Amino acid sequence: MGAFAIYGITHILALIICIVVGASKGRGGVGFLVGLFLGWIGVIIVLVLDNKYDEERRHKEMVAAATGQGGSVMVRCPHCGELAPEGKRFCPDCGGEV
Ligand SMILES: [Zn+2]
Repeated sequence: MGAFAIYGITHILALIICIVVGASKGRGGVGFLVGLFLGWIGVIIVLVLDNKYDEERRHKEMVAAATGQGGSVMVRCPHCGELAPEGKRFCPDCGGEV
């Protein structure tokens, strides 16, 4: 076991962490690439990456707030977390009672 073998093993470990963390943020492809080329530096990059799912949610909320159907108030569904127009009894997303 030379230093190179140890380096190789830790690099593979970094790659796996990058893929797992990347996939959990909806960015498995990015995780794979930075892990492959950058190793542990890639892990740091993946950790500070914006969560794609959060981004989509923020975007959805912005659209909901902007289109808000004549300024009607949106309430958050307690079941799925999506925004539903206040006054509606059931969530349009999951059908649960709001
Ligand atoms: Zn819901």
